[in-house]
Amino acid sequence: AVTNGVIIDWLARFHDIVAKQRAYLTELDSAIGDADHGVNMDRGLAQVVAMLDQPADGSDASTGALLERIGNALLTSLGGAPGPLYSALFLGAGAAAGERTRLDPAELADSLRAGLAELVRRGSAESGDKTMFDALDPAVQALQKAADDGAGLGPATAAAAAAAVAGREATAPMLARKGRASYLGERSIGHVDPGAASATMLVIALVEAVA
Ligand code: ADP
Ligand code: MG
Ligand code: MG
Repeated sequence: AVTNGVIIDWLARFHDIVAKQRAYLTELDSAIGDADHGVNMDRGLAQVVAMLDQPADGSDASTGALLERIGNALLTSLGGAPGPLYSALFLGAGAAAGERTRLDPAELADSLRAGLAELVRRGSAESGDKTMFDALDPAVQALQKAADDGAGLGPATAAAAAAAVAGREATAPMLARKGRASYLGERSIGHVDPGAASATMLVIALVEAVA
């Protein structure tokens, strides 16, 4: 099951992947944005992970409390458009997880689905807008389906990661309708969305953390 230890490891691994791929994320954002996505994500996540290393003061009595603490940390640490969006994902997931101290695959899927709804409430992205939502939404749907089919955490998160990768790649031909890339209009076509790329790293980090 997903415990608080797994979630802390998840964030650390997310930061590791982002730090290694920082130049790639910046390159994607230089094509259709302002070339800061790698820096934004690396710096912001480094601060969140440092905060998570501090021994919890008892406020992490539940998985929901930890996810909400991460959501609050993301809001203050992560710069640019993704700050409030990734924050909303974790705050919404935490609110849904509530007092549980561990999540099975179906509970994880429910929690992340609630988080994604919060992200959408914040940024109003729809499928096909060429954002992080285009990687996260198929990932959460795949996780839910695998959980409904009785899959364990390993296979369920692996299915989610495969769906995120496909969703990320599918952003390339899209015309951006949200965020900075939307200012480019037709010129946004032909490039993978930076946020869809970092969101895919979030899902891959989850696969590693549950392994
Ligand atoms: P900024 O655009 O402020 O420089 P970043 O470059 O760090 O921030 O992040 C850009 C990413 O944010 C985009 O690639 C996109 O995936 C995501 N994004 C921007 N606006 C939205 C939105 N309204 N909903 C979902 N994702 C968004
Ligand atoms: Mg940017
Ligand atoms: Mg910026």
